[in-house]
Amino acid sequence: MAIATINPATGETLKTFEPLKDTEITTKIDVAQKTFEEYRVTSLSQRSQWMEQAAKILETNKQEYAKLMTLEMGKPLKAAIAEVEKCALVCRYYAENAAKFLADVPTQTDASSSFVRYQPLGIILAVMPWNFPFWQVFRFAAPALMAGNVGLLKHASNVPQCALAIAEIFQKAGFPEGAFQTLLVGADKVASLIADERVKAATLTGSEPAGASLAAAAGKHIKKTVLELGGSDPFIILETADVDAAVSVGTTARMLNNGQSCIAAKRFIVAEAIADQFTKQLVEKFASLKVGDPQLPDTDIGPLATASILQEIDQQVEGAIKAGATVLTGGKPFVDRPGNFYPPTILSDIPVDSPVAQEEFFGPVAMVFRVPDIDAAIKLANATPFGLGASAWTNNDQEKERLVNEIEAGAVFINGMVKSDPRLPFGGIKRSGYGRELSIQGIHEFVNVKTVWIK
Ligand code: NAP
Repeated sequence: MAIATINPATGETLKTFEPLKDTEITTKIDVAQKTFEEYRVTSLSQRSQWMEQAAKILETNKQEYAKLMTLEMGKPLKAAIAEVEKCALVCRYYAENAAKFLADVPTQTDASSSFVRYQPLGIILAVMPWNFPFWQVFRFAAPALMAGNVGLLKHASNVPQCALAIAEIFQKAGFPEGAFQTLLVGADKVASLIADERVKAATLTGSEPAGASLAAAAGKHIKKTVLELGGSDPFIILETADVDAAVSVGTTARMLNNGQSCIAAKRFIVAEAIADQFTKQLVEKFASLKVGDPQLPDTDIGPLATASILQEIDQQVEGAIKAGATVLTGGKPFVDRPGNFYPPTILSDIPVDSPVAQEEFFGPVAMVFRVPDIDAAIKLANATPFGLGASAWTNNDQEKERLVNEIEAGAVFINGMVKSDPRLPFGGIKRSGYGRELSIQGIHEFVNVKTVWIK
């Protein structure tokens, strides 16, 4: 894939970049390693000051960064501004809490003194996706750098200007030169980066094949990985649910980021008793959304990030129709406009045992399934290879307890949409990956948990 900025709203190629040569990659790794040796002994208060400064830079320039995201991958500008603000939040969260999270943990044993000490690992490689071009990177970088590691970013090839802007933010904030660097390289360079003895661990957010490939390369060299992969999150609405709220939040949960979010509500699983009402309202809501120029303030849905994603969504919807699905709204790409626009779409009557029911729709397409009761809802919710998040709606306390216990996912949200929050761990199970980002768990992923025993 070429490293380039292609405006998804018009299809126009705005800027292309030459990938780094092997010698340039080596130089960047040299700089990262040299920096690590000095950076690892900087005080936490010094790192906090730099991280706080990064938060300020993000806030001061949020319009500029947001425009860059919208330009490169098409998310509506208002969502892009919110994303930059959230990046400032995660920087501040770790600036304020890292000292507490990384403090020695004393334990009484037969030693005079025994405790756990958290120490940095070194260079961490981050392979990141385009869908939240700032947030995905900052939620890795803020804890990793606060823990004393240094970062190398291989960002998605369609967001090179975002990738460069992020490295610049850390530079301007005062971090040493090699603490965080962007490598403009293709996916073909990931295996050799991992093979470099100085790269100690890697994290990837993206698709299953990319995750499997990175983990295989890391396994060969016995290096730790964190994988944040795809999802087909259920959004369960049971009989006692507040249907109006579920429709409103469910629409946001499906349409966030033009439908291209790993934790989007992808499968609506509705109790038969309220299914007609819920589906009718959801169709009305989807049909009322404004699809258009993502730079305009009143746009709800912008274009899909690339022409190939548009093609893939179109093929998936066609496949669902062939499998027996009914299209309740949308269902066909626009023919009369440039750019990668696809209308908000609802599919029902998808046979639960068809392959399409197992797939992740990475665009503005919702699947609606009807179930007789909570048993069937939980069974269907768990009937995918994924296990990222789940949202469930009910006002019955016993049902809440069952949903929390029985749903196979990294997160269960009751009467709310699945979202990431710096204070809560984020990650999946099954084929959605392993490891956790954010919260105290996130900062402990890339540290040496050193046992100390002294007599
Ligand atoms: P993708 O193709 O896997 O790309 C993600 C990153 O991996 C890019 O930097 C890409 O580089 C790189 N990559 C691709 N193939 C690779 C390989 N074989 N080895 C090493 N690196 C490779 O993902 P996408 O299709 O753009 O993103 C959508 C997917 O990401 C969806 O499945 C979504 O659910 C998932 N996602 C998950 C989370 C989460 O937190 N769990 C968050 C966001 C997205 P190039 O761009 O150069 O190809």
